[in-house]
Amino acid sequence: MNKPTTQTPAFLITIKGLVQGVGFRPFVYRLATRMGYHGWVENRTDGVIILLQENGVLVDRFLEALKNEVPAASDIGSVSVEPVSCEPMHSFEIAKSKETKTGITEICPDIAVCEDCLMDMKSQPHRIGYSLINCTHCGPRFSIIQNLPYDRPNTTMAPFEMCEVCKAEYDNISDRRFHAQPVACNHCGPVYLIFQDEKMLQTTAINDIVSETASRLTKGQIVALKGTGGYHLICDGLNDSAVLSLRNRKKRDGKPLAVMFRNLSVLKRFAYIGETEKNLLQSWQRPVVLLRSKNNLLAAINSGLNTIGAILPYMPMHYLLFQELETHAIVFTSGNISEEPVVIDDLLAKKHLVEVTNTFITYNREIYNRVDDSVVKVISGKPILIRRSRGFVPKPVKLNFDTEGILAVGAEFKNTFCIGKGKQAILSQHIGDLKNMETHGFFTESIERFKRLFRFEPTMIAADLHPDYLSTQYASATGFPMVKVQHHHAHIASCMAEHNLDEPVIGLSFDGTGLGEDGKIWGSEVMIADLTGYSRLAQMEYIPLPGGDKAVDEPWRIVLSLLQKVFGENCHAYAEQLFPEIPTQRRLQIIEALQKNINCPLSSGLGRLFDAVATLCGLCMNPTFEAEGPMRLEAVADKRNKASYTVTISEGIWQLEPLVQELMKDIENKKDIGLVSAKLHNAVAGFAIQSVIAATKESGIKKVALSGGSFQNKILAEKIIKSLEKKNFTTFMHAQAPPNDGGISLGQLAVAAKRRRISCV
Ligand code: ZN
Ligand code: ZN
Ligand code: FE
Repeated sequence: MNKPTTQTPAFLITIKGLVQGVGFRPFVYRLATRMGYHGWVENRTDGVIILLQENGVLVDRFLEALKNEVPAASDIGSVSVEPVSCEPMHSFEIAKSKETKTGITEICPDIAVCEDCLMDMKSQPHRIGYSLINCTHCGPRFSIIQNLPYDRPNTTMAPFEMCEVCKAEYDNISDRRFHAQPVACNHCGPVYLIFQDEKMLQTTAINDIVSETASRLTKGQIVALKGTGGYHLICDGLNDSAVLSLRNRKKRDGKPLAVMFRNLSVLKRFAYIGETEKNLLQSWQRPVVLLRSKNNLLAAINSGLNTIGAILPYMPMHYLLFQELETHAIVFTSGNISEEPVVIDDLLAKKHLVEVTNTFITYNREIYNRVDDSVVKVISGKPILIRRSRGFVPKPVKLNFDTEGILAVGAEFKNTFCIGKGKQAILSQHIGDLKNMETHGFFTESIERFKRLFRFEPTMIAADLHPDYLSTQYASATGFPMVKVQHHHAHIASCMAEHNLDEPVIGLSFDGTGLGEDGKIWGSEVMIADLTGYSRLAQMEYIPLPGGDKAVDEPWRIVLSLLQKVFGENCHAYAEQLFPEIPTQRRLQIIEALQKNINCPLSSGLGRLFDAVATLCGLCMNPTFEAEGPMRLEAVADKRNKASYTVTISEGIWQLEPLVQELMKDIENKKDIGLVSAKLHNAVAGFAIQSVIAATKESGIKKVALSGGSFQNKILAEKIIKSLEKKNFTTFMHAQAPPNDGGISLGQLAVAAKRRRISCV
């Protein structure tokens, strides 16, 4: 077919992935002009398209350079090239955004301030000390976006009109701020403000605000500081009384607090930092990284644990503050009380945080999407997300099957939800504990926002088996067809989905609590699973939990349960010896409840065994935060010791009697708790490995997926992974979603999508 003579050959390139809000179009512009191409680049809601008029340069060279030089925060998903013809063109242009209904592109997570902007803050006349400086390579993204496409009017920057100077930069193709949507300066952008209670102090000069803040911190006061995705509460991290006062007022009990350090070299004095950890600390995502601490200088912060949650500055304001501060470390904890969601609204901050502080440092740009700091830990040399929020959300997990229209509502504690868009799973930011009313509100509001932002219409709901989970109740109320997914299967499916595993694997699903199909509480599950179902092969023997959830708060009850099981009547003597502080009457009551099986639900949760041993070691009588006992036990473990309690597995059930016998001997003989802890860790690893070997004998499967909150325990995870790899198993740990209940929604989504497909066939 002859083309009209006015047409000239060209290529139409469609790029999908994370290509908006990261300086992608200017990057394409510079690349195309460098290679002498004429044509255009355009943002669509479903990606970026590029038209290149043929000019004798091979299009492959362009594509190669595109992949090699792409901006740091972008992530190219797919590239397709189609030969077309077009009217002859005489330049390369960036075309105006068009909205298309066919799909949506990815939205960029928030990016830590870049080095160039920090320089500009010192040298550019209109941005000297401009504390909300940003460019196409850095700045807020997800936290300010209200709708697509990613253009300024669709963000909370909308009320700020660019000045002439900023506009010129925004329009100048060779400028680093070319088409940077939140571009601003001292003349036209949002500004910081300082409030004492309700009253704004008579200054908006940034120098005054910074020095006033620094002086209050130096005096030991607490300050509420608005960040990228929510408020933080900060105080001098090296001033113990300030730290304790923050802890008390925030009702934080014993839970460790995150700390922002001036820089990496200061941090090295306090913690051991490996290469992967260093890269994470300095990455554009700038998460809190859990590190092994070097000394007990930070005892008030880490509550005697041997880890510290460290973060480096990521907003211009953080750098300005450290310039004025003498201290090298500030406590950097979410601006909330107890389990409430982090505060993002200025008025609410003054209302909710008033018990903690009366100093509020804010800026007059709204945070639209709340995003906490993310938390990462390195296990077996790889980053594992403990909390996935700022810097990571809403980057999708790419799957190889269709998930369109599925909303997975997640678990109840550490909730996240997940939506299916084509072959992408978009996990929400960390939501939290849904039993908290405000957090539940954040959950429902965020679902509505995801629907709008991602043009998402749910047609199917996936939820946990547990009928009492508030997420499950939300799902039931929607009236959509519902797929119920067992908790521990969801953990394994989540790990499988991340690794695009679509064949049966052996799953180790270890955590504290999840409802099983038999109505009992599970949590030490060895299964063979694929994405549609699973069969349970092994578990720890059930332990009766006297008082149910109460046993989690008072783990000595679990100790009595184990003693009663193994020593029968003799448990009275043990109980008296071990827990003299507990009134005899109460001990007798619990033992009687166990004997008569009154309100003693059965649990195979590994967390409960750790709780009991931590209590026996005197590490944690009354936990003040989730998993305190297991964390303390991990902290004291003598890692190099290979001794183990005897593991006896009979017909897939790990019998606890030998372990309890040996454990009690060690306790009576006052053996070092480091040894006791090591023996427990090794026993659990032994149970895992023996069970995997048995499972592979039956099935021939050599791939093992590890999931569940217990795999946040570095010692346990690394022991199991190392042993399995030595025996030629291939292990899979989470890389994108958390191993804890924050990853459950992804697993639910994957299972629902697979079951839906099968039932359609
Ligand atoms: Zn920048
Ligand atoms: Zn300006
Ligand atoms: Fe779980």
